Parts: sequence; structure tokens; C-alpha cells
Amino acid sequence: MSSSASSALRRFSLLNPPRSSLPARRSSPLSASSFSPPYAAPLSSSPLSKPRVAFQSFLRMDFGTGGSIASNKGLVEQLRQYGVIRSDKVAEVMQTIDRALFVPHGNPPYVDSPMPIGYNATISAPHMHATCLELLKDNLQPGMRALDVGSGTGYLTACFAMMVGPQGRAVGIEHIPELVAASIENIKRSAAAQLLKDGSLSIHVADGRYGWPEAAPYDAIHVGAAAPEIPQALLDQLKPGGRMVIPVGNIFQDLQVIDKNPDGSINVRSETSVRYVPLTSRAAQLQNY
Ligand code: SAH
Repeated sequence: MSSSASSALRRFSLLNPPRSSLPARRSSPLSASSFSPPYAAPLSSSPLSKPRVAFQSFLRMDFGTGGSIASNKGLVEQLRQYGVIRSDKVAEVMQTIDRALFVPHGNPPYVDSPMPIGYNATISAPHMHATCLELLKDNLQPGMRALDVGSGTGYLTACFAMMVGPQGRAVGIEHIPELVAASIENIKRSAAAQLLKDGSLSIHVADGRYGWPEAAPYDAIHVGAAAPEIPQALLDQLKPGGRMVIPVGNIFQDLQVIDKNPDGSINVRSETSVRYVPLTSRAAQLQNY
């Protein structure tokens, strides 16, 4: 994370008092061969010293507005003002893809909070979408390939498709068929409709832990659900020079940024602490639903 992003997150934390400070950035070069499947993510510190910035679930950005941001543009401006959106590219795509088309009716679409979408799943909070787009933007250039695992509402898949354009490829994988059907309807109403029609954007019902080899290798892989460990298939489907952003952990989760170097070796660092729904089997997810 850049220092401006770190300070933005610190500002968030001050406004939404955390119980401890944000995590330090870690970077550890590892060779691909050290990822004997499955790769267990390193724990940075003891659970007691782990920061409690449960970003995905608890952080809301509605400072001074009473949560009543009235437009998608207003939301993007707020995220920009607080330093979560730092680039024109991310601001532009988040303005183009209106979040209101993806948030289920009855929920305020522009509040910076995750919202339930049924099936024990949520649409991620806007600041998490923005954070992931910022982390992946260099790997979402026109003509590149992106995989969105746990695509849920389809919001980020649509953003990826807009960024990689008609010459690129954006694939969403989601294991709840009803969510896939709903996400396709959402995308059809959005600015990404034509890309869906032309086939550079597609969403598939599948177990995302195995990726989507048909369109691999990918310049960008985003995982929208927390994996107990990084799935080997996803590492294998990452292009040299590619980047994966994935929440890793069970109760305590880190948003990990994995860069595959041109020689195939891998760098892993932890961006921040997060709280996502688990990347799991369909049966486990739908238990008690
Ligand atoms: N990023 C999406 C959804 C986040 S919720 C959005 O913002 O709309 C995480 C999603 O991951 C859920 O929709 C859940 O059904 C899905 N998921 C969990 N485990 C999965 C798996 N093994 N394969 C595919 N999708 C999975």
C-alpha cells in the first residue's frame, strides 16, 4: 500500500476507532516451488497482537453525512477524498459502474458498508472494492485477462471488464447459481452490458478454488471470499508478471497481495486486516441458510 493509502486507512481508523494499530506491511520473496500445495499463509504475529480492523464488516464511511450519500458520484468522491481511491482510472470505472444496480433492493446503495445478498453472502463494501481495484489496476490494462473468484453480485467483474476492455477478458466464478443468474441481470443493466453480450465478460457457476483454466493465465486474480490458504490452482493460473489479491485466514484474515515474478517466483505481502465470508464449498456456505 502506498503511504497515502496507509494514511487514509489510518484516518478511517481514527474515525472508526480500532482496538489497535494497522498491520505493518510484510514482503517475503518465495520461490514458486516453496508453494507445495496447498500453501499455508504465514501468520504475521500472535493472535493477541493481531490488529482488529475488521474492515469488510465494520468500517463504514458516512462521516458527516449520516450515511445518506445520494449518488454513485458522491460515493466515489467521498472515497477519493479519504484517499481510498487514488487514481483517475479507479474513480472512472467506479463512476461508470453504478453500485445501485448491484445492491439488492431495499438496501441503501451508497453507504460504505457490505450488504447481504442472500445465500450467506454479501456485496463487499465500496472501500474494499476500491482498495482491490487500486491494488490490481496495473494488471487491468486494456487487453489483459482478469479472474474474479466469488463474483457474487458481479460488481467487480463488471469493473474488471470495463478496464480490460473488449480486447481483454474478465471471468467471474461464483458457486451459487442463483447469484450468477442475478449478477448477469445486474450486468445487463450496467455499462458493461455490451462486453457481456460480446463475450469478453462472462460469469460461470463453478467452484472458484479451482480457478477457470479455460481463460488462464491471468494478469489479475481477485478472490472475494477468504481462503484458509491460497489455492494452488489460482497460483498456477497467475501469469508471470501477474498479481493476485486474496483474503487469507479464518477468523483473522489478511488481504494478501501476491505478485508472480517473470521467473515464476512469488512475492507475498499483507495489505491489511479484513473480514470476508469464507471461500468454501457450496454445502458449507448454505448450512443454516
Ligand atoms: N465480490 C462479490 C461477492 C463477495 S461475497 C461482490 O462484492 O459482490 C463472496 C462470494 O464468494 C459469495 O457470493 C460466495 O457465494 C462466493 N464463494 C464462496 N466460496 C466460493 C467457491 N468455492 N467458489 C465460488 N464462489 C464462492
